[in-house]
Amino acid sequence: MKKRIAILGSTGSIGTQALEVIKQHPDKFELEVITAQINSSLLIKQAIEFKPNAVVIGSKKHYKEVSRALSNFNIKVFAGEESISQIVEMDTIDIVLISLLGFSGLNPTINAIKAKKQIALANKETLVVAGELLVKMAKINHVNILPVDSEHSAIFQCLTGEDFNPIEKIYLTASGGPFRGRDRNFLSKVKKEQALKHPNWNMGNKITIDSATLMNKGLEVIEAKWLFGLNPEQIEVIIHPQSIIHSIVQFQDGSMKAQMGLPDMKLPIQYAFSYPLRLKSDFPRFDFINYPKLTFEFPDTKIFRNLALAFEALKKGGNMPCVLNAANEVVVEAFLKDKVPENGRGIGFLQMSDIIEKCMQTIQFIENPGYEDYVLTDIETRKKTLNYISEI
Ligand code: MG
Repeated sequence: MKKRIAILGSTGSIGTQALEVIKQHPDKFELEVITAQINSSLLIKQAIEFKPNAVVIGSKKHYKEVSRALSNFNIKVFAGEESISQIVEMDTIDIVLISLLGFSGLNPTINAIKAKKQIALANKETLVVAGELLVKMAKINHVNILPVDSEHSAIFQCLTGEDFNPIEKIYLTASGGPFRGRDRNFLSKVKKEQALKHPNWNMGNKITIDSATLMNKGLEVIEAKWLFGLNPEQIEVIIHPQSIIHSIVQFQDGSMKAQMGLPDMKLPIQYAFSYPLRLKSDFPRFDFINYPKLTFEFPDTKIFRNLALAFEALKKGGNMPCVLNAANEVVVEAFLKDKVPENGRGIGFLQMSDIIEKCMQTIQFIENPGYEDYVLTDIETRKKTLNYISEI
């Protein structure tokens, strides 16, 4: 039986790679639904190639264009944010890949869990914002949340067959990004073009900036807590510039298991789709001769403060990770623009952490937040972040 897949965010980096995986295994997977926020032309192209049952375009102003282009095909077309959330309830879907951007992934993920769909989660922000809520809901609905993040997929793979063996510790590996080893003086002057050049991974803009600031690793620390039920003390970040070891689990007897391979997101995507099976692939293989040295070092959290802030948010709990995430989404968006309306200029690389920290100090703390609290915290933090940007 083929697994029928919905891809929320099919025009992004993960979405397009997921389509390649589906294309390589037509006997195993079938595309049921694709959605995009604004990239209507690519969505149309994908729909014509893969002939899904339905497509959703988030931005309503593109509805006419998409429905006209697909009128000769037997493909249902919907529009709007609510439709993206609702489409996951379709009976014919087995797996929902959530590859939406940031906070926007939360509501569709909740709906997909309620509809008892298997979740392939590429959108780490949803777990950062509302991990406790999602994990609880997944348990009640007997839904697996399968990680698509490469580090978490690595840990998930290392834990296969270890159901009754407690984890002592995990090591999340990080490439260190393009600015590894640089000092604050250098970082104060970097431009977005430099930050967008990641040494190992080819990803979307937001996550590439997050990798340069180490916020990506910070978000992944929080993601790991919820996926694997860990305490902050059990999670360690280790810089591994070659990105060959994707992460490591250390068990109670001191034994460590690592998952390795060349950096390619198609592998974690395919594993989340095919789990618990592994499918034959022609992805390039790791060759020891090309990597005679695998190296490791500790991150410098005094320079890359976002990682320290993420640990702080994790330890504090409540709505603090939600504050961290919302502030980060806004500062990254501002950093990606040369000029922001708030101050008519841009925002510097190091100012991103400064503003996130200010938000964490000033937004009202809620110890046991529910869904509404997360939504309000998100809105409140975004407002405050924009204010802070206007003051610099
Ligand atoms: Mg990752």
